[in-house]
Amino acid sequence: MQTNFSIAQLADPNIDAANDILRKCVHCGFCTATCPTYVLKGDELDSPRGRIYLMKEAFESGQPATPKLAKHLDRCLSCLSCMTTCPASVDYMHLVDYGRTYVENTYTRPLHDRALRWVLAKVLPYPGMFRLSMTAAKLGRPFRKLMPGRLRAMLELAPANVPAPSAVDLAQVHKTDGAPRMRVALMTGCAQQVLRPSINESTVRILNRLGCEVVVAEGAGCCGALVHHMGREKDGHDAAKRNIEAWETAEKTHGRIDAVVINASGCGTTVKDYGWMLRNDPAWAARAGAISNKTRDITEVLLELGLSGVVPAEKPRIAYHSACSMQHGQKLKSEPVELLKSAGFDVVEPAESHLCCGSAGTYNIMQPDWAADLGARKAGNLRDTGAAYVATGNIGCLAQISSALTDDRDPKVLHTVELLDWATGGPVPDGFADR
Ligand code: SF4
Ligand code: SF4
Repeated sequence: MQTNFSIAQLADPNIDAANDILRKCVHCGFCTATCPTYVLKGDELDSPRGRIYLMKEAFESGQPATPKLAKHLDRCLSCLSCMTTCPASVDYMHLVDYGRTYVENTYTRPLHDRALRWVLAKVLPYPGMFRLSMTAAKLGRPFRKLMPGRLRAMLELAPANVPAPSAVDLAQVHKTDGAPRMRVALMTGCAQQVLRPSINESTVRILNRLGCEVVVAEGAGCCGALVHHMGREKDGHDAAKRNIEAWETAEKTHGRIDAVVINASGCGTTVKDYGWMLRNDPAWAARAGAISNKTRDITEVLLELGLSGVVPAEKPRIAYHSACSMQHGQKLKSEPVELLKSAGFDVVEPAESHLCCGSAGTYNIMQPDWAADLGARKAGNLRDTGAAYVATGNIGCLAQISSALTDDRDPKVLHTVELLDWATGGPVPDGFADR
């Protein structure tokens, strides 16, 4: 694609990077076929190619973002399915990340939109605040059918019961018996530890059993993905710096950290991108790159350690839902399936496994109708597998798909690591025994 930026514009490193990305696009349109929003609506402006054109026009003009640009970028899930399909390796992720920042910095949203985004940015990344909001949402849940779109969506996603906090998430070192084979820092996250604390508990148990010492670093918190995808660049960078500092300090205190382990693939995609996010900050670029380089999804680490101690019990059929951040963001497709199979599960993949379930960070709150359509489509495909359970490696997908599979006969959604923990000697996961 030909671009027309002035020398002065190209002096801005963000425009310079956008220019390089834009120039790779050859307008072939292959990406449209696998874009969930284009598949749903058939509108070119809600396809990757259409959004790329809109961003090119906006960046070249140097003018404030238009309502049209904001609308079509807001409708993008950042699922990155288009990147998997693109034959020209167009880096859509970094382009749309900058596009969202451009909109955030130059466009004034309607008041209700700004208010909702402010609340989400101030609540979701903080477990204490999020827990309080979930408790309040529990009171509002019975009235959710009477609520308008976005409020109803938030209440639909809130669990009927909020589990108690887990001691596993407190800053500490979870030691193994004997000399550790590996020492990792576990990102305990934000929303996940409130919605399903058993995921971190399973992660620590299975890593300890395989001889891996697990450090929960003091001061580490939300990865920053939620605010980063709202275009709130400074908030995203601040979250990244706080985590980098916390893990560096943990290494000085406890000894070499071999990997930063993440069990929510949305967070993993973002932490693996810290190096890019902070590339223009001389004080942080190298430190961020070092953390990104040692960041691994839990399934990558389990494969490296080798799954052992599989309990010889009868295992059910599992439908594996690959989160977009797992398959498109981190390019991890076979690893979780391989682990589940080696633990003895009969694993099937649903039709349209490349399509997003509609979770996508705060998308299911900000764009509830489109998210509900995608959630229902995903639920139908998972139901059709005939599996009693769904395994996934991302808490956002787990919440979104669970809210779309509400019939008693529908499959129950669990985290991959909960199943692997059970299969190698851990307790029965919540919701697993009642089938
Ligand atoms: S597939 Fe790639 S090169 Fe083709 S239109 Fe989409 S982004 Fe551009
Ligand atoms: S990130 Fe997903 S929703 Fe956005 S343009 Fe690409 S395929 Fe479509």
